[in-house]
Amino acid sequence: MRPKTGAFYIFITLVLLGLIAVSAYSLTQYLRLRENRRLVEQQLADEIQNILGHCRNQILRHPDYDLDSERLFVTSFAQAAPKDQVRDLDKLKAFSGELTEKLLLQAAGIKPGDDRWSEVVRYKTYSPNGFKDLHEQMDYPRVEQIQEVPAITGDPVADQRIVALAVRRGYRLRQQADEYALVSDGDHMLQEAAMGAWRELQSAARNEGIQLELVSGYRSVEHQRQIFLRELGRLALQTTGREYTAETIATGEADRWVEEVLQYSSIPGYSKHHSGYTIDISDPSQGHSFTDFEQTSGFVWISGRNYLNAKRFGFVPSYPIGADKQGPEPEPWEYVWVGLDRLRLEPERER
Ligand SMILES: [Zn+2]
Repeated sequence: MRPKTGAFYIFITLVLLGLIAVSAYSLTQYLRLRENRRLVEQQLADEIQNILGHCRNQILRHPDYDLDSERLFVTSFAQAAPKDQVRDLDKLKAFSGELTEKLLLQAAGIKPGDDRWSEVVRYKTYSPNGFKDLHEQMDYPRVEQIQEVPAITGDPVADQRIVALAVRRGYRLRQQADEYALVSDGDHMLQEAAMGAWRELQSAARNEGIQLELVSGYRSVEHQRQIFLRELGRLALQTTGREYTAETIATGEADRWVEEVLQYSSIPGYSKHHSGYTIDISDPSQGHSFTDFEQTSGFVWISGRNYLNAKRFGFVPSYPIGADKQGPEPEPWEYVWVGLDRLRLEPERER
């Protein structure tokens, strides 16, 4: 074989290898893209099914209302081709919002122009940060501002590190209830004003076919400390098989667990539950745990029209979806009593 032919064969082999490598790369890229698209499509399909299911439930729960055109819309949407459903997703969302609003007003027996129409619009509306600020400005009776940072693990360096991480997320020292002034309902204690308002809210919901339950009310600093440490311990054990120590916290090794717990649980002294004016609620009708409250009819009922049904009883969302740096991630199940006076546009006329 002459050297020239040898070089030629090497050249051809290299070209072929190159071609194979490029094709293999393109194929994996193509498969990855296809998989991503499939996931996005699946998410959209799930979202559509959720909204449709929710609309159907709302219609079913009100057999006495004239909802023929709404029923027709839901049926025809459900029968449309998946491609068309995705295209019309915004229409479906708008429809779902209007349906909720219509049922709310029908349930209250109110139509635009009615005498009581003004009652519907008598409450102020707030942005998510507006709700947050409203609570920050409250001057509650029967509480005291917590001045000193309570101990968490008991190790000063470790505690300082946890507090710094919490404060960075927007947690702040809260107010402590005078425990003797609280009233109790089963296992839960609340300030009297908040308890009365909660019971009224619960019975108004019940009258409209919505089941709401109190999951948590007043919580002492010590109780919050136990919850926080229990969650921290659970995470540490789950991820490493070992307990956390004050040292792992102090050196920052445990930061990721602390951060994770802070997403849903406060450190002691920094919880709004210490005041006795804050409630966690659930809608047990569909078997959801309270942390899935956002998926329930109860949430739709309480949050519709800028949380009208919460405001009617003096409550506002505690950590609303969309507010900045409020400590935990949004908690659709937590509400805080601020009183009707702050929420009404004008003082109430004689009842
Ligand atoms: Zn809570």
